[in-house]
Amino acid sequence: MKYFIAANWKMNKTISETREFLEGFIPMVKDITDIDIVIAPPFTALSAAQDGMKGSNVLLSSQDMFWEEKGAYTGEVAPAMLLDAGCRHVIIGHSERRQYFHEDDTVVNRKVRAAQKAGLGAIFCVGESLDEREAGKTFEVIKSEVEQGLAEVSPDNLVVAYEPIWAIGTGKTASNEQAQEVHAFIRKTLAGLYSGKADTIRILYGGSVTPENVDSLMACHDVNGALVGGASLKPESFYKIVSFKKEN
Ligand code: PEP
Repeated sequence: MKYFIAANWKMNKTISETREFLEGFIPMVKDITDIDIVIAPPFTALSAAQDGMKGSNVLLSSQDMFWEEKGAYTGEVAPAMLLDAGCRHVIIGHSERRQYFHEDDTVVNRKVRAAQKAGLGAIFCVGESLDEREAGKTFEVIKSEVEQGLAEVSPDNLVVAYEPIWAIGTGKTASNEQAQEVHAFIRKTLAGLYSGKADTIRILYGGSVTPENVDSLMACHDVNGALVGGASLKPESFYKIVSFKKEN
């Protein structure tokens, strides 16, 4: 399965900073053909990013979207607008959206379905909080998020990201064993929804991925890529991540 590594820039980078990043990054990765490399800038920099990526092997993603096609939804962005801006993917259900913008599984599910309907690939995020992990509820939370978020969703053009909330932006990475255990569980849950097709869905790990820990995380059997926040903001650092050392 081709690895999928996505940069989530969150609320970082102006248009000129985006151009500067891509001028450095695109030449560095030009020979990497065996990984889907994706960058999700903020909405305001999508167009500049699309210009900077044109003709390259790097794909554009949005960090969010609304589920309606058009209309009186001040401040929102529709799936077709993202396609028009050059996006191939959209991140949906990131824990920061769930936490700060009160997105629940129903909202996340509507967004995933709308993305697929429009022809965008969904990068669908799930993950447990520290309290939930310590209370022994990790699997219960993940199963519920996966089953509710993916109700009536096709397995095609779908990527799932496991992002333990306690590992996001904290410098605390899940151990390889913790990551593999949850990824295998997600795979099993996907098999309940999609049977054999579950093996074709890439499951990304996210949470303080760095050039130092990426090799061992990517070597875990059910880890098929990464969603990277902080370490994707510098071209050198994100380059080191996408050129991680594969096991023979
Ligand atoms: C993220 O927010 O998707 C993320 C994984 O962030 P970081 O790599 O900074 O932990």
